Amino acid sequence: MRQTPDLSHFWMPFTANKNFKAAPRLLKAAKGMYYTSTDDRQILDGCAGLWCVNAGHGREEITRAMIEQIHMLDYAPGFQMGHPIAFEAAQAVAEFMPNGINKIFFTNSGSESVDTALKIALAYHRANGEPTRSRLIGRERGYHGVGFGGISVGGISPNRKTFSNSLLPQVDHLPHTHNLEHNAYSKGQPAWGAHLADELENIIALHDASTIAAVIVEPIAGSTGVLIPPKGYLERLREITRKHGILLIFDEVITGFGRLGTATASEYFGITPDLITLAKGLSNAAVPVGAVAAQESIYNTIVNGSAGGIELFHGYTYSGHPLSAAAVKATLELYKKAHIFENAKAMSGVFEQAAHALKGFPHVLDIRNLGLVAGVELKPRTGAPGARAAEVFQKCYEQGVLLRYTSDIIAISPPLIINEEQIEHIFNVLGNVLKQVD
Ligand code: PLP
Repeated sequence: MRQTPDLSHFWMPFTANKNFKAAPRLLKAAKGMYYTSTDDRQILDGCAGLWCVNAGHGREEITRAMIEQIHMLDYAPGFQMGHPIAFEAAQAVAEFMPNGINKIFFTNSGSESVDTALKIALAYHRANGEPTRSRLIGRERGYHGVGFGGISVGGISPNRKTFSNSLLPQVDHLPHTHNLEHNAYSKGQPAWGAHLADELENIIALHDASTIAAVIVEPIAGSTGVLIPPKGYLERLREITRKHGILLIFDEVITGFGRLGTATASEYFGITPDLITLAKGLSNAAVPVGAVAAQESIYNTIVNGSAGGIELFHGYTYSGHPLSAAAVKATLELYKKAHIFENAKAMSGVFEQAAHALKGFPHVLDIRNLGLVAGVELKPRTGAPGARAAEVFQKCYEQGVLLRYTSDIIAISPPLIINEEQIEHIFNVLGNVLKQVD
């Protein structure tokens, strides 16, 4: 048993600080599929940390590579100087991306990746002789991190309202694709809703294509509660953006690196965007790192089209940091060697079945899934939205399974090394808990 530290100084992110500090949940160790809590319980990780520990916890291959690297070169400046491992890591990332997307800009998080991608889109149009293309289009219920760019194109109102006077100007939003009436209990991609992408044509008609730089969406909207794209929806977004010379950004911070059994959702859906944002599974969460993967033509327009000097006035002190580069390289090697994505694919049928077996359980309004991600939407308590899911989350934790919740939606997104027994266990615990709460 480890002593509880003084909890008063750490201002916890996206956390009800007062409630948490009154009744903390503390994890002190992790290996494979399990955490150990400070009260020495084994907790099955049903959400891969925060959708990021794709190869499971404590992978020696990654740890070793990081230790060796930090002993060899702790840091070298990344502006006007380079170090080999950053270039090697970029090459490794490019190998996982769809054809043509092979230029990699490193960041430190998903939020930074999103803001970087938005800036690259603006820089591209300027370099391409269309500087009036400055409008950015996001989507209702979208989550793109917490930078000012990300919350501006994002569509989750609590994340926006406090900062609403300071959001980026010239942003518009597509409608979200969630519709229980048409799509409840869809297995995989829902049949209804492709036409919602056509709203982009109306937005373009309103503002004119010559003012629009980019559309950004998550292929699967994760943080808002797992919204799977309707069949044909992403295809239409690609068609419309291409027709009007608008860049399409897929925010793959969650879907990147195996969540759907493929390296990217772009690969899974067979749709190639212009820019892909990455983080989380990029290093198996062993170290903070993110990236933007760009079409070669975008890089060429900005970099090769420039007369000289710095082509893009953007970058971070830690872009391509040796430690994160070593983690990225080792993680991507591990994904290949240990057949991590193949296991995700092999388990997705069992996962779908186990998730949908909760149909008819108390409070359940919808179950939706794709690959190794599922959402179970609960009926909110009258006058207390989110309270029921919060209680389900707490009881699951007490019974040894860590899940996530957003409003009244429970999200399940385990490490991709999960086996059948562990899948059954997660949904059995969740099912039992649903029967225990009011
Ligand atoms: N984009 C998406 C789709 C995400 O899901 C997240 C985090 O959950 C982010 C961006 C932000 O990533 P970070 O928390 O690393 O800044």
